Amino acid sequence: MNFKKLIRVIPDFPQEGISFKDITTLLKDGEAYQAAIDQLAEFARKREIDLIAGPEARGFVVGTPLAYALGVGFVPIRKSGKLPAETIQATYDLEYGKDALAVHKDAIQPGQKVLIADDLLATGGTIATTIKLIEQLGGEVVGAAFFIELSYLNGREKLPGVDVFSLVTY
Ligand code: 5GP
Repeated sequence: MNFKKLIRVIPDFPQEGISFKDITTLLKDGEAYQAAIDQLAEFARKREIDLIAGPEARGFVVGTPLAYALGVGFVPIRKSGKLPAETIQATYDLEYGKDALAVHKDAIQPGQKVLIADDLLATGGTIATTIKLIEQLGGEVVGAAFFIELSYLNGREKLPGVDVFSLVTY
């Protein structure tokens, strides 16, 4: 499957100089979406996993079907102020902008093995923060899986020791 062909590239979105990789064109193709999740599941099945964690919003689009395919639970990592119960938080830098991420305090039990899922690895800031939150709760990050990796932004360098899988690399 040629996933790259199904990803639309939008220049100067949401800011000038950013070449945005639009996955909606892949998502609307049922066969491609299923094949993409299947490949991530194949990577995940080689590991012992208790939970999938995904940052909003596109991490839900990748993480929830993956959790369903593996028969494991899903933990939403959300922007600050969205989760209703008690949370822990951490701030992070985006490829564009700055924000804070949060997770429910009781979402992960100490020792649980967690695979992170998101649509795209850029600078690695989002995932580094997600890792911080998971580890703060005592979870063990066993890998990170993406549809897309922007290798020119060196996101992997922010994730030392993490087993990273991506379907498509730019
Ligand atoms: P990072 O924190 O690695 O710099 O940025 C990754 C996060 O920003 C991901 O959660 C991803 O959804 C979003 N993101 C950054 N650039 C793009 C892009 O070009 N396309 C898409 N679909 N998401 C992006």
